[in-house]
Amino acid sequence: MAPVTPLDVHAVPPGTQTGPGSPARLVQDAAAHVFNARNAAGYSAQVLLGVTAVAAKVSRCTRPFTGATPGELKSRVDAVDLGTPLGDTAAALEELEDVYLRDAVYFHDAKYAAHLNCPVVIPALVAEAVLSAVNSSLDTWDQSAGATMIERRLISWAAGQLGLGDSADGVFTSGGSQSNFQALLLARNQTVEWLKLDPEHDGLRLPSLLEKLRIFTSADSHFSIRKSASMLGLGYDAVVSVPCGKDHRMEPAALARELARVRNEGLVPMAVVATAGTTDFGAIDPLDELAAAAREHGAWFHVDAAYGGGLMVSGRHRHLLEGVHRADSVTVDFHKTFFQPVSSSALLVRDAATFRHVTYHADYLNPAAAVDRPNQVDKSIQTTRRFDALKLWLTLRIMGAEAIGVLFDEAIDLASSVAEVLAADPDFELAAPPQLSTLVFRYRPLQPDGRSLSEDAADRLNRDIRSAVFASGEAVVAGTTVAGRHYLKFTLLNAEAGVEDIHGIIELLRTTGASLLADAAVSA
Ligand SMILES: *Cc1c(COP(=O)(O)O)cnc(C)c1O
Repeated sequence: MAPVTPLDVHAVPPGTQTGPGSPARLVQDAAAHVFNARNAAGYSAQVLLGVTAVAAKVSRCTRPFTGATPGELKSRVDAVDLGTPLGDTAAALEELEDVYLRDAVYFHDAKYAAHLNCPVVIPALVAEAVLSAVNSSLDTWDQSAGATMIERRLISWAAGQLGLGDSADGVFTSGGSQSNFQALLLARNQTVEWLKLDPEHDGLRLPSLLEKLRIFTSADSHFSIRKSASMLGLGYDAVVSVPCGKDHRMEPAALARELARVRNEGLVPMAVVATAGTTDFGAIDPLDELAAAAREHGAWFHVDAAYGGGLMVSGRHRHLLEGVHRADSVTVDFHKTFFQPVSSSALLVRDAATFRHVTYHADYLNPAAAVDRPNQVDKSIQTTRRFDALKLWLTLRIMGAEAIGVLFDEAIDLASSVAEVLAADPDFELAAPPQLSTLVFRYRPLQPDGRSLSEDAADRLNRDIRSAVFASGEAVVAGTTVAGRHYLKFTLLNAEAGVEDIHGIIELLRTTGASLLADAAVSA
């Protein structure tokens, strides 16, 4: 078939030639794929095909992964001829089974226990179908209408749960990294604004002001804090890493020491970033004490609750967030502990006025003259933005917040039961008691001669166990380092998984480890 250029289309008056391959027929065929009133029946039939394929897949799934290698999947994906469309949804879904669905990593499986990915709740999946079809964009009122009101209502609900006060506000973001970045952007601009009013810094040019700013966060905080400092023009060195105690929580006394040191050097504490649920240990920094220290030094107090945010709806563990109400800003990832599909996160702030730091009036979009319109772009670093809030809305309207809290509480309970199993097992070492729903541990059995495996050998062995188990597809676990040593990690967010499921993973890790050790002994 000859390629059709726009010129060809214009050369033939519409409707004068309608045979296969004719310009008019091409337009007609393409138009059949557009979501609109005429194609509404086709839309629901085709989406149903996709949803049915996923449902069939999930109901037959017996393990989290197949162990497919990057090479295998690359060659299968590369073999698809993108120049030859299949023209048929069922055929494309069949092909998708080959290039994606069969070998995807399934987070709903009880033996997926690796990263902070959750099994997702069905109300949110219903919302995904609705929000992507209607396709509202949350930047302006005139592209969203009620969607803006729903997002605003959820923001005030979440701010209320956290106790951020009457002037609180917030905005949905793409994830915790973006929420943290925006929080630090607000903190930086707020600090610069304040410094410019200070006679001591009067007349200093912006670069020399930025050079003075310091961010305090624990050694265990998320890497997005350091990355944000770099993206904000402050550099990695602007981040002061505050030591943690044995429980992996930031030590208030160490923070006080670092704040005093930095002030003595004539530098400016821009922000204190606490973590409510560290990615490895689920540790929650002592929020009340850190808030007090931040306030004393005039620093912005940000709480990264990307992981621990779900505690706000927990029936039994809500108290762990004690002190979060004192934050200037809070990151919450609904796509972690609210069981929402990626992506769904929010940045909440104590003072709505601080969003002025990201407000820009563009004539074509949100002119200053139209400030009476609720344009969410005034608070966001994104412009066109998905209506992710609808997922949380339908989740709250169908299940309710309490049910979400129950799911998270189950995961927390599971982690403490599994911790007992690991602590009682002489072949395994637990790095620390669980604080939320993660467990950091390693396989380190006694040797036949009664001695324990050397640190270096244990490092190699645990790394190899993780790779071997991933390649088998029988289970997926994470890895991390603690004081330079390699450990394995379970992140448990599946309320459906029981101790026996995780016990199954532990046995798999043990037999894999034992056979790796036996192989090494033979080849030594
Ligand atoms: C996951 C996580 C983040 C990053 O969130 P994304 O949604 O992956 O961008 C930030 N902080 C903590 C503590 C996290 O666990």
